[in-house]
Amino acid sequence: MADASLSAEVWDALRQLAYEDGERVAVRSALSHAKERATLDVRLGAARTRLSEAEQAVAHASTARRAIEDQIEDTNLRTKRTEARLASGRLQSEREVQAAQTELENLQATAVQNDEAWLLATSNEDTAKSAVPGLTAALASEERAAEDRQAAAEREVADAERRLAAIDAVRRDAAQKLPPDIRDRYRALYPKTGGRPFAEAIAGECSNCHRSVPAASVQMIRAHTGVPSCPSCGRLLLAP
Ligand SMILES: [Zn+2]
Repeated sequence: MADASLSAEVWDALRQLAYEDGERVAVRSALSHAKERATLDVRLGAARTRLSEAEQAVAHASTARRAIEDQIEDTNLRTKRTEARLASGRLQSEREVQAAQTELENLQATAVQNDEAWLLATSNEDTAKSAVPGLTAALASEERAAEDRQAAAEREVADAERRLAAIDAVRRDAAQKLPPDIRDRYRALYPKTGGRPFAEAIAGECSNCHRSVPAASVQMIRAHTGVPSCPSCGRLLLAP
């Protein structure tokens, strides 16, 4: 660190660099959010999921209704066969006739249960189907809104990229004005500090890690004779 006072130009460059570093972190975060919004639309995804779930519910209800219809057909067939057997006069004993009649009664009871199950199944199917048109329309309108949102997000991405380029141009100019030793320390710290190599010494404390700053460093900052490092987090300390 130089003993001589750092020039006002160096001091301005340090402050500008610290300020632009902060801007850069904010713009990079805005850029990453805008990129995320441009590629993944959460509301559109949710509308698609709701419609697809409703369509699955219809398919499920239709399958259940068809299973009952198969059962109805089967019960009808067995009823006809049993009736035919009873009408054929080929049943030998009273016991066989009795058994066939009991079977017929059971089949008739099953038919009543089948009808009830069919009514319930068709009602479920109708309910499931009734949700689909509304969700289809909602998806179509969400798709239109998503196009607008995507266009806005893409504009934000382009704006943020332009802002970053401008910030980096200012940072490069400011860095050129620094004494080489300070510039080297700045560059080494940049990737290690998430792009924030500077901190402020406020009331004898580092604004980043809140550990105390030695009196000699505070004096150096006050007298503009150099840029001390925080002994704890290593950041370059400036005056607030
Ligand atoms: Zn610190």
